[in-house]
Amino acid sequence: MDRIPVVIVGAGPTGLTAALELSRLGVSVRLVDRAPRPSTESRALAVQARTLELLRVRGVGDSMLALGNKTGAATLYADGRTLGPIELHRMPSRFNFILMLAQSESERLLTEQLARQGVKVERGVEVTAVAESVDRAGVDVTLHSDGGTEEVVSASYVIAADGPHSTLRRALGVDFPGRTLPQRYVLADLHVDGELADDQVSIFLARRGFVATFPMGQGRFRLMATDPAGIVSGAGEPTVEQMQRLFARTVHIPVRLHTLNWSSRFRINSRHVRSLRSGRVFFGGDAAHVHSPAGGQGMNLGIQDMVNLAWKLAMVLDGRARPELLDTYDSERLPVIRRLIWFTEIGTRVFNSTNRFVHAARIRLAPRMLGRDRVQNAAASMFGQLSAGYRDRALAQGAGGIGPLRPGDRVADAGGLYDALDLGGLTLFAGEGAEPIVEVARGWDGVVSVRPWAGEPLREPGCWMLVRPDGYLAAAGGPGDAASLERWLERWFLRR
Ligand SMILES: Cc1cc2nc3c(=O)[nH]c(=O)nc-3n(C[C@H](O)[C@H](O)[C@H](O)COP(=O)(O)OP(=O)(O)OC[C@H]3O[C@@H](n4cnc5c(N)ncnc54)[C@H](O)[C@@H]3O)c2cc1C
Repeated sequence: MDRIPVVIVGAGPTGLTAALELSRLGVSVRLVDRAPRPSTESRALAVQARTLELLRVRGVGDSMLALGNKTGAATLYADGRTLGPIELHRMPSRFNFILMLAQSESERLLTEQLARQGVKVERGVEVTAVAESVDRAGVDVTLHSDGGTEEVVSASYVIAADGPHSTLRRALGVDFPGRTLPQRYVLADLHVDGELADDQVSIFLARRGFVATFPMGQGRFRLMATDPAGIVSGAGEPTVEQMQRLFARTVHIPVRLHTLNWSSRFRINSRHVRSLRSGRVFFGGDAAHVHSPAGGQGMNLGIQDMVNLAWKLAMVLDGRARPELLDTYDSERLPVIRRLIWFTEIGTRVFNSTNRFVHAARIRLAPRMLGRDRVQNAAASMFGQLSAGYRDRALAQGAGGIGPLRPGDRVADAGGLYDALDLGGLTLFAGEGAEPIVEVARGWDGVVSVRPWAGEPLREPGCWMLVRPDGYLAAAGGPGDAASLERWLERWFLRR
């Protein structure tokens, strides 16, 4: 049986991104999804700055920007008063806003780019079992198609992007520890007539629950709310009338809700796997972590999981990197996931509380907190997933630094840097006087590309930086660091 390099299970945003990256890097993939057709539900709305930075240079970001609605602030209100805005426009990115775009549209754009790269999603194909192959050099994957046929294929690696109820997690006995929050939530995508701001997220806090509104453009909004009084009763999906009553109970702005496209009710699960890797299977997206939708982070986290994993997998598969590089997917992403779950849990607790002392405290404290620059800057970076990084992780050890930048830090997409990146390997940017470093790089053909770029971090003579395909700093230093760069490359990569 021929071995497929990578089988990707699930064609949601996570699986689509994995296929997009791997196929771009020349890796053959099979991407299967048990659903016969793509979902039309809008689900995740928020596309965050870091996702846009990464997807722009991968052929998808510009079309997302053309279709989405930009929001530069999230304003908090309570009992008819404005508490203040979270100034999202402070994000240190060229995309200093949250882009509102229905998940179905993001998936469509990813699928179209994937088709341009020659990969078609195999729909109506369910993975029912996975097992290590007899020679231990691969994974046997059982595929069950809608037509009733069963096929067992062998893959060198499998990416489990099969969502929150992951079949692969169960098949491999991987735990999904965490908790289910008691509160019930409702959401609806509909039209709003009235004076509701359409260029910002609005969060209306009341003693008994909250309503948040997300502008989708052209008068359409996503409404999300808690429903402690049980207004949305019964088993069916929330109706316009129920949402109108829920809205009027909490929000001081008179509006008319109509033309409902989609509504749903849900509870929040806060869980993650203990390891993102089980042998030759890598978990990503909702298969690996689920959490509160506070802050619109879930889909973005899954996309960025795959941008972290794909270049490592591609380099190991074609013999340019040592297999140990694959362990850094777990050691880099898991702390980011844990931090994000912690952040969304805090947000959820603050917004959910129906305790009158907590409500009084949030009304009193919010304006003070939002008046502080440090709070505003930290919140904007956190929302945009711009402060996440891999400093101090294994791959960053012994790799130097440049100015305030340390290996594992995000390198900003400034001055055309991302357009100069080699998205298939490491890119060396070297200033005047860094010839010894360029010489080292020449010995690593296929692993390191030397590209011209002259931005802020390279102002000091002899300075250089090595940037990963996912836009994080790999290594950096001065002209005297040739030997340590050589050692660092030897530890993780292989000469051709
Ligand atoms: C009601 C709702 C509202 C949400 N709102 C937001 C939001 O505002 N912001 C945000 O960031 N996130 C939000 N999310 C979360 C967001 O939708 C997820 O984080 C995102 O979809 C995760 O993408 P994924 O590709 O990892 O998984 P999924 O999108 O779940 O995709 C998994 C895919 O795997 C397929 N699959 C499953 N099992 C198998 C199998 N055995 N074989 C083959 N295929 C299989 C499924 O058919 C599916 O297509 C929301 C989710 C819901 C349900």
